[in-house]
Amino acid sequence: MHKNGLQVAIDGPASAGKSTVAKIVAKNFNYIYVDTGAMYRSITYKAIQDGIDLNDENKIGDLLKKTAISFTPGNPVQHVFVDGEEVTEKIRSEKVTNNVSTVAALPVVRHDLVKRQQDIAKDGGVVMDGRDIGTTVLPNADLKVFLIASVKERAERRYLENQKNGIDVTLEQLEKEIELRDYKDSHRKVSPLEKAKDAVEIDTTSLSINQVVDEISDLIEEKLKTNKN
Ligand code: C5P
Repeated sequence: MHKNGLQVAIDGPASAGKSTVAKIVAKNFNYIYVDTGAMYRSITYKAIQDGIDLNDENKIGDLLKKTAISFTPGNPVQHVFVDGEEVTEKIRSEKVTNNVSTVAALPVVRHDLVKRQQDIAKDGGVVMDGRDIGTTVLPNADLKVFLIASVKERAERRYLENQKNGIDVTLEQLEKEIELRDYKDSHRKVSPLEKAKDAVEIDTTSLSINQVVDEISDLIEEKLKTNKN
């Protein structure tokens, strides 16, 4: 056990419900919630703003060195800041969503952000969601969960989320985008999306948010009990 509690890693493909459940679980256990996807999105946003070629590893590496990414708690969403500018909504735009996997594949980006994530999680008491948390960022996490859901279900979830945010993209287009992002995230050279050997897989396709939260909470309670004995 770490100073402030367990390290809980939640990984899985795009729109599998990771951040929704991770946020609730973190709140229930009074843990910090860390959305690592927001960090990759933030640097992608900044690079687009600055007109940098998204495949130019050197330039993006330099940009990252001088870019501060921070979070402040909020309900229902955490607020994200890049160099003091609030980007909470801007990093969810279609443009950022469809370019983030290119930037996230750059080794320099992964190296830098993984270090920041490890630093945030070092004392435990954290629920961190992403793609490589259980395999690379926190290989010794106390609990690793891998969430999956069908592409159709994930596209439908994003469609509803987009409607709330006034983003107009068809369901078919969203299915294509999700498949492409999954493909890119699973096939990159450095720490691809992969289920850790010791992760518990939960298929959320026909489960409600509460059911997934309950399953993960039970797993945390179990770990807390065994850690005490
Ligand atoms: O979780 P979210 O969909 O916001 O993540 C956006 C993108 O950031 C992913 O598609 C992936 O390319 C990248 N990512 C990553 N490693 C993580 C979290 C996100 O490569 N740990």
